[in-house]
Amino acid sequence: MTTRGVAVLGSTGSIGTTALRVLARHRDRFRVAALTAYSNAELLAQQAAEFAPCYVGVVQNGTSPHEGWGEGVSCLVSAATRDDVSIVINAIVGSAGLDATLAAVSAGKRVALANKETLVMAGDLVAEACRAGGGELVPVDSEHSAILQCLAGRSANDVRRLVLTASGGPFREGPAERLASATIEDALQHPTWRMGRKISIDSATLANKALEVIEAHFLFGLAYDQIDVVVHPQSIVHSFVEFVDGSVLAQMGKPSMELPVLYALTHPERVSDAAMPAFDPVAWAPLTFERVRSDDFPALALGIAAGRRGGVAPAVFNAANEQAVNLFLENRIRFMDVVRAIESALATCAHGPGDSRAAVLSADAAARRHVLEMFAC
Ligand code: NDP
Ligand code: MG
Repeated sequence: MTTRGVAVLGSTGSIGTTALRVLARHRDRFRVAALTAYSNAELLAQQAAEFAPCYVGVVQNGTSPHEGWGEGVSCLVSAATRDDVSIVINAIVGSAGLDATLAAVSAGKRVALANKETLVMAGDLVAEACRAGGGELVPVDSEHSAILQCLAGRSANDVRRLVLTASGGPFREGPAERLASATIEDALQHPTWRMGRKISIDSATLANKALEVIEAHFLFGLAYDQIDVVVHPQSIVHSFVEFVDGSVLAQMGKPSMELPVLYALTHPERVSDAAMPAFDPVAWAPLTFERVRSDDFPALALGIAAGRRGGVAPAVFNAANEQAVNLFLENRIRFMDVVRAIESALATCAHGPGDSRAAVLSADAAARRHVLEMFAC
């Protein structure tokens, strides 16, 4: 069997390390050809020693730089477009992943996309780059992986509705007043998933689910009216697809990103992996579902409205959220200020079409500036 070269961008993060665990079990099919990180050179060096990739890149090469490593922002595109790479796992957090996604699909690669922010800010541009370059996007996000698996090649015309599941985050149950005084530690306590800090906060505000609705719109070509969200605290059902004849399919599994990563590598094939947990419906019961408390978590509706508005609005939603989450994680603003920042940036900066990289990046920068000025940072 010939092995396929894989680049893991963001290999030192939560998804990146999960991906390397999966790749280590499937060395007969996949070869790690390139690894990149932002600044965690120590872990990156350990990973490079274990997987012996031909290319290693680090955005900030620190005070005692590693010889032979690619450096600076350009290392991401260099890793993503190498001839010996056929699949790029984009596990970078935030809008920093955009150019790597665009370059990889333009060069005809498969992008196994965890970096949902990329698609939210520039969905039309990424789709156009896929058409022009012959590349493809396969989602790593568990909900979208579930939908892809349920669709099994059927077209959007066969679908009545998608229902994305949401765990509800750490504040699903408590009183709404608790949100006003939520600390960083409270907000990072995700009930079912262990993830990076930014997506953990996004899950607590439900901004993550808004990003995922927009992601689903672009990935599967469905209107926003056809995409709903339901709270499912156990995170066992990863999403539902309701077909036009009323049939509903769901994909299930223990909350782990290993399967979505493996499936993004092998789609539409399935490969045997004995390390994946066996299905035990009795042990996993009960499975429960609830309506979203939309009034208490306004980031969801704000994000969906930005998606419907189109143009640069999703890029503004994403950038304002990213900037505000950074400020919250630096203890400079309060939890609910994240929502205020998104609302204010959308009211001020979300004008114009998002039909070029320049337009999207300029909206992204304007939204970040707006949020910094709003809190006098
Ligand atoms: P982490 O924060 O754990 O990891 C982020 C990775 O990206 C690290 O390798 C980091 O390097 C690198 N990175 C950070 N900033 C930059 C930058 N400016 N340029 C280049 N590389 C950078 O995040 P997660 O793994 O949790 O999330 C990654 C993406 O996957 C996000 O888009 C998230 O929404 C998505 N996702 C994550 C899930 C999860 O379970 N974690 C589930 C579904 C989607 P360094 O370590 O050196 O800082
Ligand atoms: Mg998800």
